[in-house]
Amino acid sequence: MRIDLHAHSTASDGTDPPVGLVRAAAAAGLDVVAITDHDTTAGWTEAAEALPAGLRLIRGAEFSCVSPDGRGGSASVHLLGYLFDPQSPSIGAEQERLRVERRRRLRVMAERMAADGFPVDPDALLDGLPADAPAGRPHLAGALRAAGVVGSVDEAFARFLYTGGPYYLGRDDTDVATAVRMVRDAGGVPVLAHAFASTRGPVVEPGVIAALVTDGLAGVEVFHPDHDTAARDRLAALAADLDLVVTGSSDYHGTNKAVRLGQETTASAMCERIEAMASGVPALVG
Ligand code: AMP
Ligand code: FE
Ligand code: FE
Ligand code: ZN
Repeated sequence: MRIDLHAHSTASDGTDPPVGLVRAAAAAGLDVVAITDHDTTAGWTEAAEALPAGLRLIRGAEFSCVSPDGRGGSASVHLLGYLFDPQSPSIGAEQERLRVERRRRLRVMAERMAADGFPVDPDALLDGLPADAPAGRPHLAGALRAAGVVGSVDEAFARFLYTGGPYYLGRDDTDVATAVRMVRDAGGVPVLAHAFASTRGPVVEPGVIAALVTDGLAGVEVFHPDHDTAARDRLAALAADLDLVVTGSSDYHGTNKAVRLGQETTASAMCERIEAMASGVPALVG
């Protein structure tokens, strides 16, 4: 079984539409794929309707969160929620708030670049995105690439958009413990994404993850392209201590990122644990 539980579509900042994502998953030889767009479930229906024969779809989302880092500061963290009820009023309201917040923040980033003479048009950038799409830095990076300022999305991040970089602006994200409880209350399964990916910015101390287990955290993403061997080893040991589900996933973003679907995978026993814990919506089979 080949299982990839973290992938983005054009419903957030991936480049494959949901239909293309499930087709690409089948073409990559996956048996199970999860659609986990940032702060939205907008791609679920399209992905479900286009599900190729034999492919299993786990519907999910990646929640943009902020957490105490365990050292007196805070850290940006991403929470994957699987198989939750998309009708949950608290999740719906929070995702709507974040979509507005994401547009506000990306507009200010684009305005600052335009003010410094870069050929980006904040109005064109925001108007070019579907109104309900969670706007993110990859969209601004794409505009910079289209304008010939950079040769790739990665270059735009490396030069301008990295966390703490010259045009970086933070966001008012969801408190992670609140997000964990929201996902659980909606019958979903919360799994912390790329928790020790230190190249992305400050990461949380192990004690923070242990505390989230009391809020209902079910698992950690151990095998992720942004985790080096040391990060994997430390997270796997922590997961064993806390009896957490361990996942592995590519965090595929289409051509916005140089990772392949199925580049990292999840053990079938772990996927079964996730499905057994969930009561929001079922996994779907094409
Ligand atoms: P944002 O949601 O606006 O904070 O942007 C974060 C998104 O940018 C995440 O989905 C990451 O996958 C993506 N990202 C972060 N760093 C890079 C990078 N160096 N190259 C391409 N995408 C990146
Ligand atoms: Fe992303
Ligand atoms: Fe993420
Ligand atoms: Zn992701």
